[in-house]
Amino acid sequence: MGGPCCGREPKKPFPHSDITVSYRINKEKCKGCGGCVAACPGGFKLGEDGKSMIINQEMVEKSGGEKICPNKAIEKAEEE
Ligand code: SF4
Repeated sequence: MGGPCCGREPKKPFPHSDITVSYRINKEKCKGCGGCVAACPGGFKLGEDGKSMIINQEMVEKSGGEKICPNKAIEKAEEE
């Protein structure tokens, strides 16, 4: 007597396949050294002001994100 318990719910890992992080350049901290462009040419380019610009967020993420810049000019902004 007594049926099997059916009240269990499998735990699902939180899906996180989409990148929800974006990066921005703090122009005041950026020295225009080009280090990030050298480290990740597909992710950054130097703009007309001589400062770095992000051209591909995904490449920046894959190349190390804010750690790429020794001057901490790459800042991470998490988005919901
Ligand atoms: S973001 Fe950092 S690594 Fe890139 S040019 Fe500016 S100072 Fe150099």
